[in-house]
Amino acid sequence: MYNILADFINEQKIWDILESNKLADFGKIKEVLAKASEMKGLNLDEVATLTNISDPEMLSELFNTANKVKETIYGKRLVIFAPLYISNLCANECLYCAFRATNKDIVRSSLSQNQIAKEVKALISQGQKRVLLVAGESYPKRGFQYVLDSIKTIYDVKTEHGEVRRVNVNVAPLKTEEFKLLKGSGIGTYQIFQETYHRETYNKVHVGGKKRDYNWRAWSLHRAMEAGIDDVGIGVLFGLFDYRFEILAMMQHILELEDKFNVGPHTISVPRLEPATNSNIASHPPFPVSDIDFRKIVAILRLAVPYTGIIMSTRETAKMRRETFALGVSQISAGSRTNPGGYEEESEDDPSGQFSLGDHRSLDEVIRDVASMGYIPSFCTACYRLGRTGMDFMDLAKPGDIKLHCGPNALSSFKEYLMNYASPETSEIGNKLIYETIAEMKGIAKQRAEKLVKRVAAGKDDVYC
Ligand code: SAM
Ligand code: SF4
Repeated sequence: MYNILADFINEQKIWDILESNKLADFGKIKEVLAKASEMKGLNLDEVATLTNISDPEMLSELFNTANKVKETIYGKRLVIFAPLYISNLCANECLYCAFRATNKDIVRSSLSQNQIAKEVKALISQGQKRVLLVAGESYPKRGFQYVLDSIKTIYDVKTEHGEVRRVNVNVAPLKTEEFKLLKGSGIGTYQIFQETYHRETYNKVHVGGKKRDYNWRAWSLHRAMEAGIDDVGIGVLFGLFDYRFEILAMMQHILELEDKFNVGPHTISVPRLEPATNSNIASHPPFPVSDIDFRKIVAILRLAVPYTGIIMSTRETAKMRRETFALGVSQISAGSRTNPGGYEEESEDDPSGQFSLGDHRSLDEVIRDVASMGYIPSFCTACYRLGRTGMDFMDLAKPGDIKLHCGPNALSSFKEYLMNYASPETSEIGNKLIYETIAEMKGIAKQRAEKLVKRVAAGKDDVYC
């Protein structure tokens, strides 16, 4: 099923829309930005108009509008997570990735359940609560069951102050039956990146293995949602093709999911190509995305789908990550390793990693930095554990009601981090921020925040509303 043409990605239509909005004047751009301020999202023509902005004055208006929307919907919260690479075995040939089958210059390994438990303990001891399980497309012995076993192992690890409370998953597209099993394992979000929506480029960079099938991948989130997974994540690997095309194609994908399932993706990831062992294309992207264009991409996505989370990984430098918080990023990874076993080994930039990291700081350093900028790092996992997912989440999010939960929960989970894991320096900055933030809150949100933070301060873990 679904091995047919993914016709919701209509390339000719994308080119036509880009062409017809190419010459948008300041008046038109301002009109689109005014509509974007209403936080109801944008259509394809409007998104195309924004992708064509190059004038510095218009660009700064775009950034200011994205900042306002981000602050109104998400406030100062930033959700924190860490990737957990369980295996770098892979049967595919993605020319940009160090894990591709024919790359002989990395050490291959897939972690045993015991090793995974050790990695999880290492992550918990840093203070992590949300993990993104990542694997190449080839599983040892038990096949896909290996992924299910690994999820169970992650959830089963309990330590004095912590456990992983949400496992998100980034593994190759599955069959509907397998997605049902994945759903049954208690995952949060299933994410998969199309890498490039441009078919010709897709065929050029995926030269072996199952991943060559564009359509199988493009329909995978349909299968996931049919199987009952209602939080799904999408993404593009920026640098492979023209980012303007990719943004519009991603919008077509989003509109298709909204049309068929009444809810779009929960998150969008914006990886940019990073150097990877033995990959020419990764070091020399065919369509390099400049830093300014990268910021533009984040800002446009923030306005186009205001209620969809935007994820920024440690592929990017600390500086770029800081800049994009203001433009729309709502989730960041921190203290990441991309080689299986990397947390326990405490290795940095291991040659068996998937790509080079731009941000090598520890979780504590990232938290301190983020808090110094006035952002509240959130380890909250309440929505998914209380069943506020998919459409239910969007129903709450759209009228702004979610803030009555997210604000207080972010503060209580941050307080829990500070009490159990932070360095004295981070603790001082963080506690000050928590009390300043509560002082500025009003009404129900303030009452909830005060109550939850007080309970954590009294030694109670895992409190949320
Ligand atoms: N193997 C699965 C797949 O390809 O869908 C899932 C895991 S794969 C390790 C996760 C993502 O890493 C890919 O979807 C791709 O976007 C990203 N990636 C691969 N090589 C990269 C590189 N050189 N720079 C940045 N991101 C890269
Ligand atoms: Fe394998 Fe995924 Fe890397 Fe492609 S991107 S080589 S499928 S791990």
